[in-house]
Amino acid sequence: MKLDTKMIHGGIVGDKYTGAVSVPIYQVSTYKQDGVGELVAGYEYSRSGNPTRAALEALIADLENGVRGFAFASGMAAISTIVSLFNKGDHIIIGDDVYGGTYRVLHHVFSRFGIEMSLVDTSDVNEVKKAIQENTRAIFLETPTNPLLKVSDISAIADMSKESDLLLIVDNTFMTPYWQNPLDLGADMVVHSATKYLGGHSDVVAGLVAVKDEEWGEKLFFVQNSIGGVLGPQDSWLLMRGIKTLGLRMKQHEQSARRLAEWLETRTDVERVFYPGLKSHAGHELASTQARGYGGMISFDVGSAERADRILKKVQYFTLAESLGAVESLISIPSRMTHASIPPHRRLELGITDGLVRISVGIEDIDDLQADLQQALDAK
Ligand SMILES: *Cc1c(COP(=O)(O)O)cnc(C)c1O
Repeated sequence: MKLDTKMIHGGIVGDKYTGAVSVPIYQVSTYKQDGVGELVAGYEYSRSGNPTRAALEALIADLENGVRGFAFASGMAAISTIVSLFNKGDHIIIGDDVYGGTYRVLHHVFSRFGIEMSLVDTSDVNEVKKAIQENTRAIFLETPTNPLLKVSDISAIADMSKESDLLLIVDNTFMTPYWQNPLDLGADMVVHSATKYLGGHSDVVAGLVAVKDEEWGEKLFFVQNSIGGVLGPQDSWLLMRGIKTLGLRMKQHEQSARRLAEWLETRTDVERVFYPGLKSHAGHELASTQARGYGGMISFDVGSAERADRILKKVQYFTLAESLGAVESLISIPSRMTHASIPPHRRLELGITDGLVRISVGIEDIDDLQADLQQALDAK
């Protein structure tokens, strides 16, 4: 099955009891047993398994070429469940510009349970290698990252993690399985904030995981069921509905982002443009070999916080909001929003300047989007 077909026919399709073409929302907590432990269709209690969620879990496993999928109440519930696989004294290497919530849960929550971490620039394979300690158990990275779209070499890091017997976990939120399949490149687990592109309509918070190996699948199921941060049937259904148009949306997001990035780069009043699809981007070549597309996220530097503010006030179709990956275009200022909790000197070290503007390019008409940005940039 090709990818565009998988999004429609992958996982579990329809309902075998009624012939319904769409998977029904099984709004149910418990299931009748014919005798003790004699389950009618394998379901016992909806924390452990629910048919609507099961269809979504089978779908993400299919889309990421994994053996088993898992759906959670949020991206953070998914990541926290994965981290709960580890023990006191274990060490995890994480990207130094991973999603703020991932950093927060490791630094402020799991550290209290004795899980150690090192922050590393994963776009430099040697830095990752140097950070491996005797108690290292896993590497967790995002590629491309937020907001500078730095690209890490999944295959090279996967080879290294195999040599040292580490688990490689990739947060694939920005690329989605439509553009990039980390498991095919050697990663062991892939995690998504499905709140973003997979859902795609700014109406559901969810997390998804796919694993390459049955053994880790069993372990993760045990922790998912023990902790219980599962996705409800309504939201599972909404996500499946969103995923049906993932391919159409991703193609449009990318086509428009590419055009906007190329146009922004021609403007003398924009200092730098960060988009992996641009030849000028440091990760361009790597992105071209490990992914089939460059996604819909762009960051650009307009020089100062004041000018960034003016642009925010002027734009009409770009909504000022956290989050990304939806049909509507969004705009944000990383230094004062998603990355505000990072100390100013550290932000500058990472390249997150006060004039940096991040856009999530939606699927509105591209001429409207470009004209909107143009009038905002031209405003005095
Ligand atoms: C949003 C996001 C998360 C967290 O997901 P939630 O669904 O908000 O809990 C994790 N990783 C990345 C890259 C994200 O953008």
